[in-house]
Amino acid sequence: MNLARLLDRAGRVASGRVAMWRGTEPVATHAELASQAAALAGGIRAHLGLPPGERVALLMTNGPETLPALFACWQAGLVAVPVNAKLHAREVAFILEHSGARLLFTTPDLAGTAQEAVSGLLPQPEVIEAGGAAWRALLAAPVPPHPLEASEPAWLFYTSGTTGRPKGAILSHRNLLAMTQGYFTEVDSIAPGDAVLHAAPMSHGSGLYALPHVAAMAGQILPESGGFDPEEILRLLAHHRGVTIFAAPTMVGRLVRWPGTEGADLSGLKTVVYGGGPMYLADCQAALRVLGPRLVQIYGQGESPMTITVLPRQCHVDIEHPRYLERLASVGFAQAGIELRVAAQDGSSLPPGETGEVIVRAPTVMEGYWRNPEATAASLRDGWLWTGDMGSLDEDGFLTLKDRSKDLIISGGSNIYPREVEEVLLLHPEVAEVSVVGRPQADWGEEVVAFVVAAPGTSPKPEALDALCLERIARFKRPKEYRVVPSLPKNNYGKVLKTELRRWLERG
Ligand code: AMP
Repeated sequence: MNLARLLDRAGRVASGRVAMWRGTEPVATHAELASQAAALAGGIRAHLGLPPGERVALLMTNGPETLPALFACWQAGLVAVPVNAKLHAREVAFILEHSGARLLFTTPDLAGTAQEAVSGLLPQPEVIEAGGAAWRALLAAPVPPHPLEASEPAWLFYTSGTTGRPKGAILSHRNLLAMTQGYFTEVDSIAPGDAVLHAAPMSHGSGLYALPHVAAMAGQILPESGGFDPEEILRLLAHHRGVTIFAAPTMVGRLVRWPGTEGADLSGLKTVVYGGGPMYLADCQAALRVLGPRLVQIYGQGESPMTITVLPRQCHVDIEHPRYLERLASVGFAQAGIELRVAAQDGSSLPPGETGEVIVRAPTVMEGYWRNPEATAASLRDGWLWTGDMGSLDEDGFLTLKDRSKDLIISGGSNIYPREVEEVLLLHPEVAEVSVVGRPQADWGEEVVAFVVAAPGTSPKPEALDALCLERIARFKRPKEYRVVPSLPKNNYGKVLKTELRRWLERG
């Protein structure tokens, strides 16, 4: 099974139907998208000589070439490595080196980052700019989808690691097909005239949700802004029909609070799928009031993409149900085909009401982490994925996520691992010790706060610390506040007590 067959099929069956719009302008039919992917695949094989199984990185902002590039990788039997476009060149370089990518597709706006990222690598991956001369020269005689086993890797999904090093979850063709099929049974139906609006990066959730739309031979809408702009979204919703948007809770909140949204004609909006971070109850109720009965929540992670639980549309509007509010505050119940347990450390199942680690067994669960057997062994035990999320089930099987077992910060739907930020701040000569935690924040879910112990006789300035972060890590990971403190709270083993730091923040 090769996922490339989905686009190949749409290109034949729905050949003349529009498959992609930039804003309100049609840019390609299914036949055109499919033939572009096939010709690119042909070029990768014929001109670059990459054999099946090699990795191809995609450092791209959402554009008309993103989907053809992704499908071209699969068509040629290659493994796609989509990279978060907001990462620093150093972070991109790590992913390129670790994945062993031989080729890097990029968009013109990221060409500088791409060049900087490959500059120190040996061998250096070839960089090809989408739509540029090298891209056009690459288009060659089309090749059919390369025959693959379903267990072969399709997508290396790089998440940040708690050690500060990203880990690449190996998502096979089977994993992504199970995710795609799960969308139809659990999340929504898709009619041929419907479309997904990519307001979030296609390197993550939004790109994953391109797949069910390709499978349904439906369309893809790329906002001209390239990102999330409420005003533009409303304009697009007035033009298109049957639109689905995948959005992090932060984005849903921004759309809901946008002055033009309330009272706007939302008849073009079919569904808002939200997830990737906690949605607070009050925000969910506000979203329902403004957007109407269009919300579906999913809970998943890179290691089981978009697919662990679902809180379907009807649970959002079933206000007569005695536990309506509890359900609305939950992440829903296990999707069909997903076995889910809340487990104690020893793997035994905990009864309803008790909090433990969420563990799952499913056809969507990754094959393991790329070139990281230790992390794989820690996460995949006896066939179960240990998610690192703490939660509890109720009697009906609704899961409420509590704290994360790790100290992951989720800001605007993006994961920030404190250790990564701490490691950068510790490079500053005036920083003796540092600990980074998340503080609840209405717009972003959480924001980053750094507690800093100054080196003797110094007083580190926030500007200097900020500048250091800007040099080394993505902008969105920078602390919003630096608090200089005499010492950090620690336990008997000398480990910093982050729970105590969060308490300090609560107390102001
Ligand atoms: P990622 O691997 O980047 O997709 O991040 C996955 C993590 O985001 C999960 O392990 C959860 O901690 C969190 N997450 C995902 N979906 C939800 C949700 N619906 N509610 C709360 N947290 C979520």
